[in-house]
Amino acid sequence: MDFWEADELAAHRATARAWAEANIEPHWAEEQHRTGCHQTMELHARLARDGILAAGWPAEYGGSDVDPAFAQAIFDECAERDLHVDGWTTTSMVLHTIAHTGTEAQKHEYIPAALRGEILIALGYSEPDSGSDAAAAKTTAVRDGDTWVINGQKMFTSTAQVCSHIFVLTRTNPDVPKHKGLSLFLVPTSAPGYDLQPIHTLGGQVTNATFFTDVRVPGSALIGEPDGGWNVMRVALIYERGVSSPSRIEKTLAEDLASWAREARRPDGTTVLDDPLVAERIGRIAVDEEVGRLLGRWTNWQAAKGGIPGVEGSMRKLFFTEAEQRHFSDALDILGAEGLLAPEAPGAPAGGAFEHGFRAAVVTTVYGGTSEILRDIIAQRHLGLPRNRPGG
Ligand SMILES: Cc1cc2nc3c(=O)[nH]c(=O)nc-3n(C[C@H](O)[C@H](O)[C@H](O)COP(=O)(O)OP(=O)(O)OC[C@H]3O[C@@H](n4cnc5c(N)ncnc54)[C@H](O)[C@@H]3O)c2cc1C
Repeated sequence: MDFWEADELAAHRATARAWAEANIEPHWAEEQHRTGCHQTMELHARLARDGILAAGWPAEYGGSDVDPAFAQAIFDECAERDLHVDGWTTTSMVLHTIAHTGTEAQKHEYIPAALRGEILIALGYSEPDSGSDAAAAKTTAVRDGDTWVINGQKMFTSTAQVCSHIFVLTRTNPDVPKHKGLSLFLVPTSAPGYDLQPIHTLGGQVTNATFFTDVRVPGSALIGEPDGGWNVMRVALIYERGVSSPSRIEKTLAEDLASWAREARRPDGTTVLDDPLVAERIGRIAVDEEVGRLLGRWTNWQAAKGGIPGVEGSMRKLFFTEAEQRHFSDALDILGAEGLLAPEAPGAPAGGAFEHGFRAAVVTTVYGGTSEILRDIIAQRHLGLPRNRPGG
């Protein structure tokens, strides 16, 4: 891989910008911020209409002839405008998981419908008593003739408030070691017995607790083999950590901070950027951002070749999220008291983006695998070190 390649999306930037200007409503980002729902369905419908969601998928599964690089440039435009597409990100992970582990019938049922924007899938792995140790899930699925009956509760089912399906991790066999008795189902949120309650988080995002009471699904909703759910989960988690960010060119905090520091003045009339310690900290942020971007390119490149970026995805997520926390902490130090002004406060620097970014960064080292778990994976699989817990 050429780590020094120029922006390979450059040819698409102007058309992507024109698409964004014509199709992205300016109030959507504010709406996401206010409601905490990181998925805008009107945007989703437009992405589907123009074949952007379907870019890169084979025609037999509903793929479009839109250049994946153009689609990527569009998602970069969304990120530029502070628009999240979290529901599409989780859907995309599940589609790739189905492509690896589903039956042909499931690939033809779910992938084209999702690419047309008709179904959106949230991840239902975590429970009140199991997060890092997802395999300890207690939600049950019991076979009843040709159907399965699901009972239990999930925590942090993000974007479920707008999703048509939840990808639910269940226990189908309590009599075998925990990793061997799991199964995954695609459960429609329209099914009787399904319910949800919002959970407000520090970063402003509103996620959900979801409840399943005698929810009945057909056998065709089972993804992978019965009791073979851990093999399905492994693929799904790799996609979550390795290729979760739809944006390859993450917004750069270093640039935002530098433009603020270039203008902001200290009482003695000098600019904040005149302070060499400030310049050094911004320089360090820029270096970290470049490393994070290259790690993202590495995992995306592996995925694009049809590979599964396992340990590399863990490295990317660990580095990127921990660096982001350091960066926003540095940003607040540099900004001083003004940095504490929230987005709603008059005069907040960069419209409160630094304060909000600081809060939002806190949860990034929790979802999709905590830093401790990712370090453990890297220690075991990359360095060959022993497990840190017996039987875990
Ligand atoms: C904003 C947000 C959105 C989320 N969205 C989703 C979603 O859409 N779908 C979903 O299923 N889940 C989601 N999650 C849940 C997330 O995946 C879990 O919170 C995460 O896996 C951690 O699980 P836990 O909260 O139960 O913490 P625990 O697993 O109880 O961990 C608590 C602490 O112990 C540490 N720890 C645990 N086990 C070990 C170990 N073996 N070695 C060392 N340290 C360990 C952890 O690192 C952590 O610091 C979301 C969470 C948040 C905060």
